[in-house]
Amino acid sequence: HTTLTVGLADEAATLAFGEALASRLVPGMTVFLEGDLGAGKTTLTRGILRGFGHAGRVKSPTYALVESYELPQLAVHHFDLYRFADPEEWVDAGFRDLFDAGSLALIEWPEKALALLPAPDLTLTLHPDGPGRQATLTAHTERGLPCLNPY
Ligand code: ADP
Ligand code: MG
Repeated sequence: HTTLTVGLADEAATLAFGEALASRLVPGMTVFLEGDLGAGKTTLTRGILRGFGHAGRVKSPTYALVESYELPQLAVHHFDLYRFADPEEWVDAGFRDLFDAGSLALIEWPEKALALLPAPDLTLTLHPDGPGRQATLTAHTERGLPCLNPY
């Protein structure tokens, strides 16, 4: 695997990194967002959505499990699977259908539903680093590799 580590000094840096990352994300990709509660996964998602031109709110889908954004270039499905417990719900809720060639999936807590998810193109792990964060990116597919170019 190929990895890249990026330092994120504050929340603004996380948002700016997300915006820069957006230009390397394409429809059909699956991105796993890993890290503890409060690591900055939702903040990063907010930056990515801004990068795609989304000007509105980005709310954490902790209870809904997924929030979808229909943007001009693509659909973005932002999952937070922290509370996901029932595999039967996956098909019943139509989640399976959200993984298609025109959609980008950003998934917080993928470990809660690993057997149900497609293999990721990119894993992004956030760690505390003093008052800031460190992001480690790992590409698993050809599609994920451009995300590792310097920022
Ligand atoms: P998660 O979705 O991983 O639970 P959130 O993004 O909801 O985390 O919240 C993370 C918290 O950390 C927010 O208060 C946010 O302002 C803050 N934060 C995000 N990125 C950074 C950073 N690079 N340095 C310091 N604080 C950050
Ligand atoms: Mg979150």
